[in-house]
Amino acid sequence: TVTIGVLAVQGDVREHVAALTDLGVAAVTVRRPHEVDAVDALVIPGGESTVMDKLVRAFELQEPLRKRIANGMPVYGSCAGMIMLADRIADARPDQETLGGIDMTVRRNAFGRQVDSFETDLDYVGLAGTVHAVFIRAPWVEAVGDGVEVLARVSHGAAAGRIVAVRQGNLMATSFHPEVGDDRRIHAEFVRIVEQCR
Ligand code: GLN
Repeated sequence: TVTIGVLAVQGDVREHVAALTDLGVAAVTVRRPHEVDAVDALVIPGGESTVMDKLVRAFELQEPLRKRIANGMPVYGSCAGMIMLADRIADARPDQETLGGIDMTVRRNAFGRQVDSFETDLDYVGLAGTVHAVFIRAPWVEAVGDGVEVLARVSHGAAAGRIVAVRQGNLMATSFHPEVGDDRRIHAEFVRIVEQCR
């Protein structure tokens, strides 16, 4: 059986641990450098990417995490976690860094000030039916490189066509929060990547 870590410096850690546990996966929190080596894969939760980045560096997690990502560890990032996996941020704070790994540019808080949060149904590559997606001050993916597979786009409204889920190799990211509610299909997609890679 696989052990999946949830990066636990900031954000909605418990919800992801619960989602993974629902799927019968061993889920553990990761907040120290040595814990990075103890997991087969990692989830980076939603939260606030500027704070998460600062804490990742303060806890000396940036280098071990970048190393494992470079060596092919599967990682799933949701919302702020998506930002952490982006090679580029369109509107980064001057001192904001990411772990990187996915050849994409993300825009933070992209859906605009009036709509802090919204929900919509999406088509998602590989899943039957639609996924009910919850967005909370979410980023969107503004540009992707050739190696990035687009898994979902917003289907209607002002943001129609915007990319909100991607995969590159063993890295997967969504703008939305699948840990909210009880649909576990997005986490199951990630577990499938993790199991394929062992
Ligand atoms: N707006 C947040 C950021 O820039 C992300 C919000 C979230 O993770 N729910 O990090």
